[in-house]
Amino acid sequence: MKSLLGNSIKELENVALDYGQAAFRGRQIYNWIYNYRNKKKNIDQIEVLPLDFRKKLKKDGFKVSELTFQQKNLAKDGTMKLLLSTGDGEKIECVGIPTEKRLTACLSSQVGCPMDCKFCATGKEGLRRSLKASEILDQILFLENEMNRKVTNIVFMGMGEPLLNIDELLLSIRSINEDFQISQRKITVSTVAVPKMINKLAEKSFQILGNCQFTLAISLHASNQKTRETIIPSAKNYKIKNIIQDSKQFVRDTGRRVSFEYLMLSGVNDKLKHADELSNLLRGFQCHVNLIHYNQIDEVEFKRSSLENLQLFQSRLSHNGIAVSLRKSRGIDKNAACGQLRQNAKNQ
Ligand code: SF4
Repeated sequence: MKSLLGNSIKELENVALDYGQAAFRGRQIYNWIYNYRNKKKNIDQIEVLPLDFRKKLKKDGFKVSELTFQQKNLAKDGTMKLLLSTGDGEKIECVGIPTEKRLTACLSSQVGCPMDCKFCATGKEGLRRSLKASEILDQILFLENEMNRKVTNIVFMGMGEPLLNIDELLLSIRSINEDFQISQRKITVSTVAVPKMINKLAEKSFQILGNCQFTLAISLHASNQKTRETIIPSAKNYKIKNIIQDSKQFVRDTGRRVSFEYLMLSGVNDKLKHADELSNLLRGFQCHVNLIHYNQIDEVEFKRSSLENLQLFQSRLSHNGIAVSLRKSRGIDKNAACGQLRQNAKNQ
């Protein structure tokens, strides 16, 4: 199967030329798949193309979109979670998080995930495979069509570890930026951190995108190595001090500050001594801490911190001179935690 999605305007012009069509036919495909108002999900809907051209594209295995709709859940706050099926029958999820001015798409980069984080539903199932750039982008089309709004911000915080699919990740970021017209500064790549890959991300971004303007968010979730290993078993291969060193290098290479995600888990990492330890780790470094109120899931032992602990922790970090904000959970009433919808579908 050949996907039209993910191709640049030049590449689509070349597709048209390959079929003996004028280059503007490629530009028509481009406008019909990326322009929000016209966005089409199959070749037959691009009626502006001559019928025989459409037939030839389909006969040769071209598609606009490879994913199919399976299920949606809409939370009271407007957060929408979609379960989608890939061409080979795998299931992936994406989430649309609306506010008055923004629609943030939380995208998956892999089917399943090999990182086995203990707080995460996706991690329980292991990795099935990585997604192609076109499958990553298709999630945006689905969210825009289902929510009838243009996506304005992207976070790679769905299923999978994006840095284990770095080439397709960066190809999708190229298209999000140039074709979907979403600024790189409105894109966040979230990772639990894989050895050597933070530096590689900066290096490859410069090669593929010409720059590196998106935000890197590192899921730290602990203030010391021992605690981190109990939450994220894969952390034993990558010491916290090395993550911080590599993050500092990322800041030097790109000029972008790094965000550290910190899931507040009751009795595990949410005491004031942890806030002090975290402050010592991050002091004097161009970074930001995002505290996250955990979306509890049934199958794991962790519990969410109380709001009181969360606020005390936040105040202590601020008092210690660390830039910190609190990320509220959205859509908690409808399986919004990563991997939950897919798991529920499998259990039905
Ligand atoms: S939290 Fe992210 S990296 Fe960790 S297992 Fe879940 S999907 Fe993978």
